[in-house]
Formats: sequence, structure tokens, C-alpha cells
Amino acid sequence: MADNAAVLREWYRVHSRDLPWRKTKDPYKVWISEVILQQTRVIQGTPYYHRFLKTFPDVKSLASATVEKVLGVWEGLGYYRRALHLHEAARQVVEQHGGKFPVHYKDLIRLKGIGDYTAAAIASLCGGEAVPAIDGNVRRFLCRLYQLSLNPASASDNQYLKKIAVGFLQHHDPGTLNQALIEFGALQCTPGLPDCQMCPFQAECLACQNGVVELLPVRPGRIKPKTRYFTYILYVWRENGIPFVLIRQRATKDIWAKMYDFPLIESTEGFTSAEYGTKPDSGIPEPEPATVRQWMSETYIHQLTHQRIEARFLMKQLSAAPALVPQGCFKINLMEFRGLAKPRLISRFLDNAGWDLR
Ligand code: SF4
Repeated sequence: MADNAAVLREWYRVHSRDLPWRKTKDPYKVWISEVILQQTRVIQGTPYYHRFLKTFPDVKSLASATVEKVLGVWEGLGYYRRALHLHEAARQVVEQHGGKFPVHYKDLIRLKGIGDYTAAAIASLCGGEAVPAIDGNVRRFLCRLYQLSLNPASASDNQYLKKIAVGFLQHHDPGTLNQALIEFGALQCTPGLPDCQMCPFQAECLACQNGVVELLPVRPGRIKPKTRYFTYILYVWRENGIPFVLIRQRATKDIWAKMYDFPLIESTEGFTSAEYGTKPDSGIPEPEPATVRQWMSETYIHQLTHQRIEARFLMKQLSAAPALVPQGCFKINLMEFRGLAKPRLISRFLDNAGWDLR
């Protein structure tokens, strides 16, 4: 195994990408990079990494920020729960560690949103601990190298994989070796059919020797995404010529937690008929004054990891501001709403809608 570690280390020295978060051992910056990279690819994530650190250069600035500001900087990355967890964990670091970001696995794993992989990545890179950080890249490489049909849902199989990975880390620099394992899976031992002719492990890779590369690693059963149907009810009116809308803040136990959108009817049955747009039953009390005009948008599709959202927007133009506002909603002028954290779906709609209120 020691030889394998040396081969891997040399491969990494030659082939590793020059990425901004590899130039630091600051655990705060490494943490931010790891969370962003769980969400997106390197090329898309790099501008977010720079923007996030420019806005929140250290853990104290992140902890003292408002949720809205954190969500705003995260906007476009998706899976907003990660941003909320970042914010909560930053507060934990300030309250429990005096603002000094921990570097030991046992402390990191207690922070909100930090799982086994992220804790291991930070602890090895910034604290020098020999704990393996196993992501999909590492799993793929090791399962092929040793021809292992491990079940990713099995705790004992995962423990076994960790033991194998630890063998690579018995070197003087476990942080670099962890990075090298991840990078090797990302660049060389790629999904599908990798270029095994160019691989430094070709001679001893059991999957390659036995012709079963594309069968490994064993994949979990595919999760069928659930489709949800949203009909947003969009009350619009003008005050002194400026468009206003009714909005609400989303609950914490659903997608887009704490972000802002419009009152909503949700169904799991799909949009049933064309006349829906002319006979809406929103379940939301109609505000006074009455609607003077209404129209339905086209359907917007928004794909999340395990959910597909099909959304329509029923616009209801009022002659003046509603006297009574439905519970949980509040009035806001459209320009101010533009500045609030909101789902990308809503931003897309606002960009396309054109706000034809005449
Ligand atoms: S020989 Fe092919 S399958 Fe084996 S580790 Fe190298 S790239 Fe991966």
C-alpha cells in the first residue's frame, strides 16, 4: 500500500489542478470550498467561492450576517439548506469555539451540516489527522482498484472502504493524500470507461485486469424524482405607478427554506384543465378590492436533485392595494422584492414576465 500511496502522490504532483482553495490551510476557507463543491462542479463553483469569501471573509462575519444576506450570496447554487447550515455552523463556531474554526474531526462533526466527508477533509488538510474523506470519486477509484462490489448503503461496507483508504494516508501528509484520492477519481478514474491505458495503476487494478471497470462501483437504486405542481397566486397592483406584490417567507421544513416567494397552491395531481385559469380556487381569501384582470403564465419546469417542480403563475391584477392581507403574506414593492433571497424559479419568472400590468 505504501507504494500505491507514493504512486498516487507523484501522480497528484504532476496532474492536480491549480485551484484557489488548495493554496490555503485555513479551515474556514476549506470548509466553504467543500460545501460549494458538494453543490456544483469546480468551474461553476469557483466564482461562488470567491464571492462568498469576499462577502464573508471569516467565520465571524458569516455568523453575524443575516440569513437573507447569506441566502442572497448563495443564490443560484441551489439546495439552500446548505447555506442555512453554513450560517448555523458559523454561529456554533463563534459561540462554542470563540470564533476559532476547529480542525479536529471530533469537533468538526458536531457542527451543523458537516458530515463525515467534510469533517475528514478539513481535519486531514488543516489538522493533519489521518481520517479518510470518501466521496464518490474515491469510492469509484478504490472499488475498481481492488474490485470491490461494496453496497454504498451498508455501514459495514463503508467501514471496510475507510480502512482501505486509511492505508493510503499512512504517509506524512494525509491531507494531500486525501486530496490526491479525490482528484484521481475526478480526473483519471472517471465514471463510464476511463482511459486505463494512461493509468499508473493499470498493472495492478483488478477491475481493469478482469474487464469489469464499467460495472464498478455498484450503484444504489436510482431514486425516481417526485413531481410537485405549484400554482403561484400573484396579486399585483400599483401605488404611485410602482408595481407591488404580495409575498411570503417559506417554511423551514421544505425546499427553499426561509426564502421568499408568492402565495401558493400545491398539488400532486398535475395541472388538470385549461379552465383552471378562469376558475381558480386558491384557498386564499380574495383580497379587497376585487381582481380587475387575471391571466395565467406558461408552465415553468425546475429540476432539483430529487424533485421536479412544474410551476405556473396566476396573475391577479387588483385596482388598488388589498385592504386585508392573507395570513403569512405581506406587501412589498417589486424592486425591493428583487433584492430578497428567492428561488431561482421565481427569478426566472420575473425575468420573463415583463410585468405587463396595463
Ligand atoms: S486502471 Fe482504469 S479502472 Fe483501474 S484505477 Fe486506473 S483508471 Fe481506474
